Amino acid sequence: MEKIKMLTPLVEMDGDEMTRVLWKMIKDELINPFVDLKTEYYDLGLVERDKTLDQVTIDSALATKKYGVAVKCATITPNKQRVSEYNLKEMWKSPNGTIRSMLDGTVFRAPIIIDSIKPVVKNWNKPITIARHAYGDVYKDTEFRIDVPGKAELLFTSVDGKEERQTIYDFECAGVLQGLYNKDSSIESFAHSCFKYAIDTKQDLWFSTKDTISKKYDQTFKLKFQEIYDKYYKEEFEKLGITYFYTLIDDAVARVIRSEGGFIWALKNYDGDVMSDMVSTAFGSLAMMTSVLVSPDGKYEYEAAHGTVTRHYYKYLKGEETSTNPIATIYAWSGALKKRGELDDLPLLVSFSNKLEEACVKTLLSGKMTKDLVNLVSDNTKVAVLNSLDFIKEIRKNLELLLK
Ligand code: NAP
Ligand code: MG
Repeated sequence: MEKIKMLTPLVEMDGDEMTRVLWKMIKDELINPFVDLKTEYYDLGLVERDKTLDQVTIDSALATKKYGVAVKCATITPNKQRVSEYNLKEMWKSPNGTIRSMLDGTVFRAPIIIDSIKPVVKNWNKPITIARHAYGDVYKDTEFRIDVPGKAELLFTSVDGKEERQTIYDFECAGVLQGLYNKDSSIESFAHSCFKYAIDTKQDLWFSTKDTISKKYDQTFKLKFQEIYDKYYKEEFEKLGITYFYTLIDDAVARVIRSEGGFIWALKNYDGDVMSDMVSTAFGSLAMMTSVLVSPDGKYEYEAAHGTVTRHYYKYLKGEETSTNPIATIYAWSGALKKRGELDDLPLLVSFSNKLEEACVKTLLSGKMTKDLVNLVSDNTKVAVLNSLDFIKEIRKNLELLLK
């Protein structure tokens, strides 16, 4: 078979530990034999980030802005222990955070669903995609403890020196205090990314906040979304037969549980953090969650939702066999190649990407899987547990059959 040609390079961001090992296996077994792969390669492994003073992360984000589609391997976000483990010059920031803020993007997380793994919520038969606003709120808060009575005030001084002041609380006792903010520009980008992604994937979009209680803060989110929907997206939504739906978060939670899935649920930063853990756990496994960062001007970065699977990597280094699930990382590749194919009008690349996903599902349905999935499948009597490479080789066999 002749290898499938590409036009525009895909931005390839390599990463760390076990996922770096899987990355190479996936390329060697599932991509390179079939696709004449064109990538612009950036090594986001911690060693290279340290060597380049993290410039490589910035360069990879700039390349994503230029070309429009990236695929990223999981990377270590260094903490104190990593600084000594890797003898780092600095405790570099999270690459995902850097890329996200440069692309001004929103992260969409969706589970990969297969028939033999039933979600805990039995009526969920389609994926629920969580769109989390990843800027501001409690993640950029200012807080302190109050140890003596006193008055807490909110003070805003405008650039021209005008002051706006409100009492938060007159403390008669000890307590706690917290200041939050967000920016119109970030909320607007969030809204654009969500509407674009809904159109892209032809799914309904739900959005929920606590606007009945937070009458300025959450209300701003609600109004911005409605305004942007009416002005830019309503017509396209109606044409596609999809809906935009706002509801109070309490109501949304109840409706999500009773739903059959198949929509995007947009949430503020904290709500999205919590709800995405709930939804991914109920669907099964972090190793089966995909993640894509979408910028408001339509740039895409695909990755797995899980980390570098450190515990497995240390076993791998000792020469022990590991059964790490490569599915989410394979889907990052298929998602990115499919998007590249759509943008460059390459139907062969799109169909290859679909077949790669089909091959993954077929392999899992045949009972061949990695260790993490064994206890999740409804019937685990006919299961064969494979190590990562053998599992990838089984996927390759199915892929070759599908490509014939
Ligand atoms: P993790 O790598 O997601 O792994 C946590 C645990 O989940 C693993 O020990 C494993 O459980 C299970 N798991 C996750 N992915 C799996 C897979 N593909 N196959 C099988 N089991 C899987 O999270 P972490 O241990 O908290 O973080 C490790 C490193 O990853 C950290 O340095 C962190 O900074 C980084 N991280 C990166 C990203 C990213 O780049 N997007 C995201 C999160 C974390 P068992 O050990 O029980 O088998
Ligand atoms: Mg969380």
